[in-house]
Amino acid sequence: MEDSTPFRYIGGDPALDLVNTVDWTSEGPRRDRLVSYDRLVTWAEGAGVVASDVAENLRRIARGDSQGAAKALSRARSARRILRDVFYEFALGNDATGALEALNPLLTIALSRLRVEQSGALAAYSWHEWGENPSCVLWPVVFSGANLLTSAEATHVGMCSGEDCGWMFVDRSRNRLRRWCEMETCGTIAKNQRRRARQSS
Ligand SMILES: [Zn+2]
Repeated sequence: MEDSTPFRYIGGDPALDLVNTVDWTSEGPRRDRLVSYDRLVTWAEGAGVVASDVAENLRRIARGDSQGAAKALSRARSARRILRDVFYEFALGNDATGALEALNPLLTIALSRLRVEQSGALAAYSWHEWGENPSCVLWPVVFSGANLLTSAEATHVGMCSGEDCGWMFVDRSRNRLRRWCEMETCGTIAKNQRRRARQSS
């Protein structure tokens, strides 16, 4: 039941790494890695979104509030779909107005938790109810996605050319010709397919 497929963080942004927790195939999302709230926390920890002590606290809270945890997981899956739709339209150079309309309520929720706190000589961002609200892992992810969309890098968001992959990334390669999520997976599959096609012809 528990999908223990390791998470891959190849998106270059937590918002895209969340999108990449499932395969976006021609038949819809497949191989969902977010099969439990625990897995969501593990993903967030690996993405650098939560520190390990916060992750531990969230797991403990989830054990005592399975309903709250289930709700947070379903919110994460829904945010993942919305982020995917937005970045998909951007990657293809399409009008993203409709997709952004779905994203904005998530941004409102996230930003309603954002605070500034004294941190030495400066102030730093922090989140109200951080590590206490099971959904807190989503707030910085949505905020990061909005920051990416409003940055110059929004035009460098690309999608893997692999069949039935659909993973997304910020293309930071020098010539902006990145095609694959990872050369070792989709890039190699495509290379082998080309080789087989050559051999059979
Ligand atoms: Zn791929």
